Amino acid sequence: MKNHAQLSQEFNANEPRVNWHDETLWWVRQKRDKAANTLPEWEQLREAASSIKYHTLSNLNDYLQQFEANAEQNGVTVHWAADAKEHNEIVHRILAAEGVNRIVKSKSMLTEECHLNPYLAEKGIDVIDTDLGERIVQLADEPPSHIVLPCIHKKKEEIGELFHEHLGTAKGEADPQVLTAAARVHLREKFLTRRAAITGVNFAIAETGEFVVCTNEGNADMGAHLADVHIACMGIEKLIPQRRHLSIYLRLLARSATGQPVTTYSSHFRRPRAGQQMHIVLVDNGRSTQLGREEFRNSLKCIRCGACMNTCPVYRRSGGHSYHTAIAGPIGAILAPNLDMKQYADLPFASTLCGSCSNVCPVKIDIHDQLYKWRQVLMKDGQGGAAKGLSMKAMNFTLSSPGVYRTAGKAGRWFLRNVPFVVNNPLNPWYKQRDMPEAPKQSFGEWYQQNRKK
Ligand code: SF4
Repeated sequence: MKNHAQLSQEFNANEPRVNWHDETLWWVRQKRDKAANTLPEWEQLREAASSIKYHTLSNLNDYLQQFEANAEQNGVTVHWAADAKEHNEIVHRILAAEGVNRIVKSKSMLTEECHLNPYLAEKGIDVIDTDLGERIVQLADEPPSHIVLPCIHKKKEEIGELFHEHLGTAKGEADPQVLTAAARVHLREKFLTRRAAITGVNFAIAETGEFVVCTNEGNADMGAHLADVHIACMGIEKLIPQRRHLSIYLRLLARSATGQPVTTYSSHFRRPRAGQQMHIVLVDNGRSTQLGREEFRNSLKCIRCGACMNTCPVYRRSGGHSYHTAIAGPIGAILAPNLDMKQYADLPFASTLCGSCSNVCPVKIDIHDQLYKWRQVLMKDGQGGAAKGLSMKAMNFTLSSPGVYRTAGKAGRWFLRNVPFVVNNPLNPWYKQRDMPEAPKQSFGEWYQQNRKK
């Protein structure tokens, strides 16, 4: 498995694409700023959203039981899954019991996290993702590279090629309107012929046992309303206590994600219609462990808006696939090591710790602090790698002694001036994407000694 540095190097090989990716995501970030600035109460909304989530997470067992009781009373079947394997098995069991082997699915990062599509494919079940972006990456046989904009890494010409190959559009056709119309015809046939639909869950309300799914395309509604069996897959952290809390999150979600005042469809599902089955799978998959890690508990407040990704200078320039996990970007780099410290040890280091992610997060998660804390946990656990451990020890030794620091600075300047290739060579990973500065004539300390007022 390649690490973040190796994967981002591949993405970085195409410089115009990196620039375009960077500018596109920054444009979304600016839309978010404009939308947030239209609400004078923005900071109060963030504060309220964060506090409600904090309260919910502190009483999660009670709210989960309340939700289960109310959902069952509404005629919904509730299932509990300890991990991804159990989640996949439950979904398969429900489909197998109904003899269903072709389904539609609306965008759900949880099913990506659980690798549901390949699991169902192995069992002979055909899954069609109905969110347009998800369908595009599915046709390209790739995972989503962003939690809200799954195919943001693809240009319209590439999408045109894919549609030509799979959906029979004209060669060279790249007009988004024409391509969208072709996707609509293609997907409509799937909606009308599939008997089961899987959706994600954006918010679940303990007080009423209902859940809310937000989409811009209405694809979750189409799938769920036309199917005989609706399966909603939900991480246990998606709960909020009461319906009156919902508006706070709906106002924050769309503005933070795409700069829209509200998502086009915020659909409430409460009970199955006559003759329909409705199931909810409540999935833990490491969330209880994260809840028990006091320093990282806040990460469970995430409402998956993607704002931290759009602003992150590392994500924007390295692409979502370089994170080798279902959820890319800053929040993904906090959630992934919780699942497997060894496999994802590189991700918390893929950050400048600039704090831009924490500044935009609508639920006020201390993202960059948590990334910094993960680094400490990983280094103590021996997951940071021997080279990093040694270099940190050397830095610690140098920085804690003024004499050693001064000597090292002098030596560094001498090397840069007289034998620069010792530093500027391909073996030094820091040099790969950087221009080495010219060595200054003197250190700041020396300059200060000479120029300070006596
Ligand atoms: S961590 Fe915050 S900014 Fe990032 S996706 Fe989650 S809610 Fe949005």
